[in-house]
Formats: sequence, C-alpha cells, structure tokens
Amino acid sequence: MHTPLLEIDLAKIKYNAQRIKDFCEKSDIDICIVTKGFCAELPIVEALIEDGHNFFGDARIQNIAKIKREFPDVKYMMIRIPKISEAEEVIRYADISLQSQLEVIKAYSDKAKSMGKVHSIILMIDVGDLREGVMPENSGALVEDILAMNGVRLIGIGTNVGCYGGILPTVENAKILVNLRDSLEKAYGIELPIISGGSTCALKLLREGKLPKEINNLRIGEAVILGEDSTNGLFIENLHRDAFILKAEVVELRQKPSVPMGRSGYDAFGNQPVFLDKGIRKRAILAIGRQDVRIEALAPVSEGMEILGGSSDHLIVDVTDSKEKVEPGSLIAFRCAYSAVLSLTTSPYVEKVFMPLASGR
Ligand SMILES: *Cc1c(COP(=O)(O)O)cnc(C)c1O
Repeated sequence: MHTPLLEIDLAKIKYNAQRIKDFCEKSDIDICIVTKGFCAELPIVEALIEDGHNFFGDARIQNIAKIKREFPDVKYMMIRIPKISEAEEVIRYADISLQSQLEVIKAYSDKAKSMGKVHSIILMIDVGDLREGVMPENSGALVEDILAMNGVRLIGIGTNVGCYGGILPTVENAKILVNLRDSLEKAYGIELPIISGGSTCALKLLREGKLPKEINNLRIGEAVILGEDSTNGLFIENLHRDAFILKAEVVELRQKPSVPMGRSGYDAFGNQPVFLDKGIRKRAILAIGRQDVRIEALAPVSEGMEILGGSSDHLIVDVTDSKEKVEPGSLIAFRCAYSAVLSLTTSPYVEKVFMPLASGR
C-alpha cells in the first residue's frame, strides 16, 4: 500500500453525527450534514446513510452527483451559490439550492421549466459576514421577482456567518433572519417554512439555549467530522476529534543545525522563513508536502515532535525530544484540522483507509 495514509474512523464520524442529530432534534432542528470537507467520500456518506441520516449538503456538484447516483433517495442541498453554467446538473441532482443572485435564479427557473421541474431554493440573507447573500433591506424586491418565476419554489431563507468575515452567530443576527422571514411572509402572503440558520458555529448558541426557536435547519460539517468549532475556537464536548489521522513516512533522518546556512531568499511559496537557533537538532523528513496538505493544520499525535515547515513534497519534523522511536521507513501520525482533511481528501496521492472498527465512547 502507498503512503501517506489518511485513516478515517467511520465509527467516530457516525458517533459524532448521531449525537449532533439527537441534540438538534430536541429543538426541532433538522440537520443537513455537509460533506464538502471530506470530498463526499462515498464510504463516509454511506456509513451515515446506514445510520438513517438522509439530508446532506455540498458545495461541489460533482460530489452531489456522485452520491445521488448511488443513493437517489437521500436529499441533497447545493450550499454554494450555484453557477449558471451548472444549472442543469444542479437541478437534476440537488433537491434544494442556496441562492442569492437574481440572474442566477432566473436562469435556474428557466432551466427547470425546460426540464419539466420546479427547483426548490432557499434565499441567502447577509446578516454581516459579507460572503453570500442579499442585504436584508434589499430582500423584498428580490423575493417579489422570485415569486414571479415558475421554475423555482422559494421554501425558506438562510444565512451564513463565520466563513469569510469571521463574524460569529449571535442572537441579534439570528433574530434579523427570523424577523425578516415574518415580514416577508406577511408582505407577500407566502409561507417560508425553512430558516437555515448557519453552520457548526451556530451550535454554540443552541447549546446555550439562545438560538431563536424559529431557526429550524442547520448545515453542519466540521462538528460532525472533527468535533470542532473553529470559528468559536473550541472543541465540542464529548465528540471525537480524531476521526482523521494522517500517517506519513520518514525518508530522511539527520542531525542538522536549526538555522540554514547561506544567503536568505524566499522559500518555494514566496515566504521569507525565520528560524530560531536551537543548536543541532534531529530532524525527520517525511514524504508529504503542501501539494497534499495544509501543513499548518496538522498536529503530531506523539509528544515531543514539532513540525518545522515544509515544501511541496516534504514535511520537516523536529523529533529530537520524541519518546517514540523514529527511523527511516517509520510512519509518523498527525491529527488533522478541517483544512487538512479538506486538502488530504482532495489529493490523489494520499491513500484513504476506512476503518470500520467499533469505537463508540
Ligand atoms: C461549509 C459550509 C457549511 C458547513 O460549515 P461547517 O463549519 O463545516 O459546519 C454550511 N453552510 C455553507 C453555506 C457552507 O459553505
């Protein structure tokens, strides 16, 4: 088998998903499990479907199509504002899409009509994070235009925070959404049954009992796969954080000085590295690099190891203080944060190993 390996513990992911689902259901919140963080790897989605989860979301139509071809009965939501150029596929494979742009919605309506379908959409509202969405004060005019189209059905409104602007979900921005839903329903005599209130970072408000009860959908990725809420900078209690373990192989092991010798320029990625002189250190070079993984999102599992840096194909780890024996050919294990899982599952050079071992807590 090739290395590096990404070991994926399906039982831990299933456990996390079940706990979050149970917790959300107590507040009548439907969860949409977001699969983009792991490229909708089929064995993972399959394991979740086995457990009865049937509502998923992804940002890539290729991922959605891959799963829907295998499991036509699960519900999938397209969570990135979709492209006009992919309208036909999105309408074919996604049951719902998040939308915000008049021209796109019009194109989707026309395409759906030509396919003999009506496509369900959720209108995204910008409550301050400045990524996608119409500003609340401009939403009425857009809703009016949408209601005049026959190929799309407006089933709710939603918002996204915590992704671009790093704005946290608050009672205030959640209430903007709820009040807007109420006023849109009244002004246009319509029903907007879904309020999709955000992603993993909204779970904190729910745990604190502060999420308005009208919010009835959340789109959850990170908490399910990593038990983490990085926007709020916290791990969620009693969830597994180590469902994804990277193992990379040592190809060189040498004592070397900790500061490079010679004239300094830029590294392969345009940065000017800085070095702390710690004297002679024992350094392992591992056969994995920035082409495969965002190395800043890795953390060695063993104590006494420190990632020094890396280039496209190499990762350099200080193993001087390692208690674990390291030699050429050894595999060194790393816990992976979100962006590491994202990059590792995208890299064709990383072998994915699915572990069906039972490991409930
Ligand atoms: C990525 C994404 C999510 C899921 O976010 P997590 O932090 O992984 O829970 C939800 N909604 C949208 C629109 C997204 O792009």
